[in-house]
Amino acid sequence: MQCVVLAGGLATRMRPLTEKIPKVLLEVEGQAFLHYQLALLAAQGVDDVVLSLGYRAEQVEQWLHEHPPPPGMKVRCVVEREPLGTAGALRECFDQGVLDDTFFLTWGDSFLPFDWRPVWAAFRGEALMTVLENAGRWDTSNVVFRDGALRLYDKTRSGAPTEEFRHIDYGLMVLRRSVVEGIAPGRADLAELFRSLSREGRLQGFEVRKRFYEIGSPQGLEDLAAYFRAPPLVVLDRDGVLNRTVPYRDDPRDSPLSPDQVELLPGVAAAVAELHAHGVPLAIATNQPSAAKGKATRAALEATHARVLELLPVKPRSFICWHKKEDGCECRKPKPRLLLDAAAPYPELEGWMVGDRLTDHQAGRAAGMRTALLGDAESDCDWRGADLPAFVRFLGAVKGW
Ligand SMILES: [Mg+2]
Repeated sequence: MQCVVLAGGLATRMRPLTEKIPKVLLEVEGQAFLHYQLALLAAQGVDDVVLSLGYRAEQVEQWLHEHPPPPGMKVRCVVEREPLGTAGALRECFDQGVLDDTFFLTWGDSFLPFDWRPVWAAFRGEALMTVLENAGRWDTSNVVFRDGALRLYDKTRSGAPTEEFRHIDYGLMVLRRSVVEGIAPGRADLAELFRSLSREGRLQGFEVRKRFYEIGSPQGLEDLAAYFRAPPLVVLDRDGVLNRTVPYRDDPRDSPLSPDQVELLPGVAAAVAELHAHGVPLAIATNQPSAAKGKATRAALEATHARVLELLPVKPRSFICWHKKEDGCECRKPKPRLLLDAAAPYPELEGWMVGDRLTDHQAGRAAGMRTALLGDAESDCDWRGADLPAFVRFLGAVKGW
């Protein structure tokens, strides 16, 4: 999967910081910004990066020489001989013959800490723009997005009544090479291209709900540093996330009912240790209805849970619902009670709920958390993957570890 990163700008808003270095090499928490961006791209499955460079390109090339990209990733530089504008820079990539048939496009100063894979999967047609409901929170809204569709992108806001512009371009696009082929050589701006495409109904929209970060302004740079410094809170479902499930006659993925049935899943102990090492507060939120259903004693279930904790390198705080569904309690997931209790000491932290069932996702959403789902339960979770180690790799990439 390819991503073109447009990083040739003069970064005039970041002077004097950028008088001697290009923007992508500005330091954030002790590392060049480009380090974080390449790690994030790797976590999205991007293995081919085209860096479009202009201002102080030789410094970026030197940095890449000294800092090898993540394993398996190829990084190529395309250098503008003169400032060509964003569309001109992309056309130059086309002329150099480096573009795939379909590719991601992002800005050299954007940091977009969410799962990009659903954007790629949703792509149909020629061009896609991710958008965020803005309502004036960040920059000026420039997108009309209605009923799940992008109606107009217009930086000048002249093409529709002002109040209809409620979204902003998020900084991630998917494009076909054939669209780039249509850009006339010379100096040109992508804003004009995207406006034309949207007017012709050729620009697909994809709504993102997570805020973006950018280092195009001193405030943006400070916001990103603060985001990297703050650990997330991670709440873990237990069975199927930390330990193996056990088949039982009424449930092929049941909880272990005794300590000897407890077996951690591969890589879980190391993943938990890594979260802890990065200062992440950890909690377990689990439904354990087997005693209420008469399948085991409460004492056996408590000993079983103690065994899970014993096998982990750190002991997350535990929040357990012992009821069965018919009890109508207030704590059983998908209700958010356990998660809210886990999050109560950390009101300022971004919460993640990691589970393997739809009810985990529902509880996470009800508690105002982002959700990660292991397996393939149907949901609009924020991240989906195979196991906890994969989630921790993703979290590390979005949090700059
Ligand atoms: Mg589970």
